[in-house]
Amino acid sequence: MIPGPIEFENEVLQRMSVPTPSHVDPEFISVFANSLHLLKEVCQSPSAQAFIIAGTGTLAMDMAAANLTETGDKVLVISTGYFGLRYADILKRYGAEVDILTSEVGNIISMEDIEQQLKSKKYKLLAFTHVDTSTAVLNDAENIGALCKKYNVLSILDGVCSVAGEEIKQEEWGIDVVVTASQKAIGVPPGLALLVVSQKAIKAFEARRHPVANYYSDWTNWLPVMKAYENRQASYFATPPVNLIMALEVSLKRIFEEGLENRFDRHRRTGKGMRAAIKALRLESLPKDDKIAANTLSAPLYPNHIDASAFLQAVNEEGIILAGGLLADLKSEYFRIGHMGSVNKADLLATIGAIESALKKSGFKHELGIGTAQILKHL
Ligand code: PMP
Repeated sequence: MIPGPIEFENEVLQRMSVPTPSHVDPEFISVFANSLHLLKEVCQSPSAQAFIIAGTGTLAMDMAAANLTETGDKVLVISTGYFGLRYADILKRYGAEVDILTSEVGNIISMEDIEQQLKSKKYKLLAFTHVDTSTAVLNDAENIGALCKKYNVLSILDGVCSVAGEEIKQEEWGIDVVVTASQKAIGVPPGLALLVVSQKAIKAFEARRHPVANYYSDWTNWLPVMKAYENRQASYFATPPVNLIMALEVSLKRIFEEGLENRFDRHRRTGKGMRAAIKALRLESLPKDDKIAANTLSAPLYPNHIDASAFLQAVNEEGIILAGGLLADLKSEYFRIGHMGSVNKADLLATIGAIESALKKSGFKHELGIGTAQILKHL
């Protein structure tokens, strides 16, 4: 129950264990084409360009930055935690002049403050984290997208902890680039960098004055490959991670069997149930307000006088693995529960049950079952 890698469905894992076909095998070409198509559908962005590349979420972030920024470009990063700061670092590597708006921990930056900043100079690009995995805060992607449209700024949404768990209407909301990875709500073991890029962003890439300063990430190499596979033709720049892409197709198909709306709704109910259980146990959470709390993970604070590592160990002894805090300054103040992808009611009951037992062992007084009752109530 950590916020990625999540637990994967057997069908997805089994697909990875078949003998690896050639990357130009006709059957694999069709798998690649389907995966590219379904990935765009997950982001509700049918006219965009999808990229499926061997790598991780960080490579997806890096690729968008490498292709869309040049030395001297003005870029705004909206940082709500650990991964916002990472994005700022990446963008600086490509010579961008980066301004960072940093929220207080557990909060977001208001639309007024973002708009004020966008008014203050002509930015080329804005990057933000949709679900901040370090704080369990959910940014308002729709309204950030609208502001970027209003000020004609390209937008990058880091959706590593949100895509296929939180609703994203990329095209309707005017988000130019969604970057993500396989190992979270997409439901495939680590190893894929995934991008969905608007035609507007592709045009901005094509209008570059200088070559992309990163050989592997350069869309000049990858665009013809992705377009060829979309048109069910083989192409080569660097060997695709064949088995992972086959697993991706299985997972994406399962996502659409469930239905996007149903899936987002299930995540909403899961998030709500988890937050209610945490509240019933009288634990505070890092997000300042339920309105800005993510549905893919939760970030409760430890009660006073509880030893963080002893608590996590006690939860572990109940068969549940949780993640510690990610923000360096607050590492021993909070923990994280991932609840995205194929997580079900039994997983949630077991998790809250383990947390209740561990709290009891740590000397925290609560009525046993008071948290699990909330899961039953909400799911
Ligand atoms: N962004 C966010 C929001 C993340 O949660 C993560 C991974 N936890 C990353 C970026 C980086 O992804 P990866 O570890 O796959 O490189």
